Amino acid sequence: MSGFTLSLVGKTIVVSGGNRGIGYELSRAVAKAGASIAIIYRGSKDAVEIAEKIGKEFNVKTKAYQCDVSKQEQVDSTFKKIWDEMGPVGGLIANAGVSVVKDAVDLNKEDFDYVYGVNVFGVFNTARAAAKLWIAHKTQNASIVITSSMSSQIINQAGENKPLTQVFYNSSKAAVSNLCKGLASEWAPHGIRVNTLSPGYVNTDQTANMDPALRAYQAANIPLKRFAQPEEMAGQTVLLLSDYATYMTGGEYFVDGGQLIW
Ligand code: NDP
Repeated sequence: MSGFTLSLVGKTIVVSGGNRGIGYELSRAVAKAGASIAIIYRGSKDAVEIAEKIGKEFNVKTKAYQCDVSKQEQVDSTFKKIWDEMGPVGGLIANAGVSVVKDAVDLNKEDFDYVYGVNVFGVFNTARAAAKLWIAHKTQNASIVITSSMSSQIINQAGENKPLTQVFYNSSKAAVSNLCKGLASEWAPHGIRVNTLSPGYVNTDQTANMDPALRAYQAANIPLKRFAQPEEMAGQTVLLLSDYATYMTGGEYFVDGGQLIW
């Protein structure tokens, strides 16, 4: 085991959705471990500033790249640009995700394309763009961490409350957790590892508008009795990107306050 370390010094890590919420804290944690960070964002006006702030905070190179992960050609050209501007990429956190909360009877093809376009095709596009470069450059021990969700496995009970109606979101997370296993299997011979971070409820913009009664009910059903803070997602991701995780691939790792126990 000598020589194994949690340090990410010398690595460039791409983080999609790294400017906000969980992705922001994953970017900070990875920067704190010494990596340079390329943040991919969709359109937030402050993303460039946020990337610079993380760079200054941890004295690492950072840069924000605007790119819609659901567009394959845009993703391919963005990864080439990142490789040229920031040096060889060593890891990817495929974290960008969206939801549409609507009753199932009101959902339509546009909603499906939007949610699956980001949560499944977007994850695939970023993973594929990274893997193409790694295979071409014969990069070894590259690591992809996909942000899935505990909802890949369960539909939460809501008690007397109206449940969070997001069947496309939940099913897209089941799809992406399976995608992780397929990619891990296919790319293992190329030295590319693929795992998921599957969070429970986390306090971000995505959960900010949840009905307070539903939130209280859900929190009561979590063994740790609360939603997570985004920074509590970071340890597992740093581990999976590090040299300590060289035998970890195809895994779905739940960081959910114990919610899946019950
Ligand atoms: P937020 O809503 O806070 O942030 C979403 C991020 O994704 C933003 O950075 C956004 O960029 C980016 N993004 C969205 N669409 C695209 C796109 N088409 N192309 C590029 N970037 C895009 O999300 P969270 O931090 O809450 O969630 C992060 C991940 O964690 C998601 O995959 C989510 O499903 C998952 N998750 C979240 C949970 C929670 O309770 N919050 C629980 C379980 C999983 P921009 O700012 O430019 O719009």
